[in-house]
Amino acid sequence: MGLIAIFTIAPYALYRIYIGSFITAIADTVVVVSIIIAVIYAWRTDNAAKPGTYLAIICSAAATIAAINSGINSFFWIYPLVLFNFFMVSPARALIIMLVVLCSIAMYHTLNPNSVFANTYQMSEFLVTCLLSSLLTFIFAYRTQHQRERLEILAAHDPLTGVYNRRIMTEELYKAAKDSRSSRVYSLLVMDLDHFKNINDTLGHKAGDQILIDFVHIVQATMRENDLFFRHGGEEFALLLPDTDKQGLTIVADKLQKQVFSKLQSPAGSVSVSSGGAVLEENENWQDWLNRADAQLYLSKQAGRNRYHIAD
Ligand code: GH3
Ligand code: MG
Ligand code: MG
Repeated sequence: MGLIAIFTIAPYALYRIYIGSFITAIADTVVVVSIIIAVIYAWRTDNAAKPGTYLAIICSAAATIAAINSGINSFFWIYPLVLFNFFMVSPARALIIMLVVLCSIAMYHTLNPNSVFANTYQMSEFLVTCLLSSLLTFIFAYRTQHQRERLEILAAHDPLTGVYNRRIMTEELYKAAKDSRSSRVYSLLVMDLDHFKNINDTLGHKAGDQILIDFVHIVQATMRENDLFFRHGGEEFALLLPDTDKQGLTIVADKLQKQVFSKLQSPAGSVSVSSGGAVLEENENWQDWLNRADAQLYLSKQAGRNRYHIAD
């Protein structure tokens, strides 16, 4: 958008200086300079939201000034402005900005009759077509935003249990490993349901699915609000516990193992879980951290299941 806007507006700024239309030339130049600054800002900070709002406001103000000064010839610019604004800011904001632009032009024309439009009919035709373009773009942008949010949710969650999926788990473990260099203590608990294949084989896949859902509810009822819960494989789950040291991790592992064994029931009896925990070490990467927790889980399985081990 930055490149397109610069290459379409900069020639006009030069042309307007050439024909002596200085106010419009200044407006065009301000727009081009603002776009360059905003693009550099977005590039450097990785934040496109602030420069987007800034550009929508600057370009809308410039287009309004150009429309008032150059009359009907400049009005064609309002239509690409509609699209530009809906690219730059949220649908609701873009719609409000467009309403402000149209009201300003209509008000200016009412206070200075015949200054902008040749007659009232021309003005109403312009306002109606512009409003229609804004509304249609609003509907399109709103639907796109809604679909994107929906896709983001689908891409982050496990469809069966609703907890975060493996993709989010790797992202969050990576973030924690990076963040632990500041001062926070992170713990990780990996859990694996015991003899789950037997449950599937004897009771069927549907019963197995229900046990996974029940297991998730039991863990969710026990975990804290800022703990993060992931399904990282079939019947394997992980719990990321921020601000939790080895002692805290042991308490959580103990509590979860007991809660699951007493509450998780299949038609054939209690279902148990084995788990392994590890506290994130200084300068450790997330893969090593996960492997250490996994090694502890393996020890729990070897020692007979329905228990937990925590790395030293
Ligand atoms: P262990 O105690 O050693 O962990 O034994 P296990 O039987 O739990 O482990 P194993 O890895 O052999 O079997 C895991 C089973 O989990 C196999 C697979 O069919 C089942 N499973 C994986 N995902 C799902 C799922 O979404 N739904 C159901 N019902 N079963 C699943
Ligand atoms: Mg298992
Ligand atoms: Mg397993």
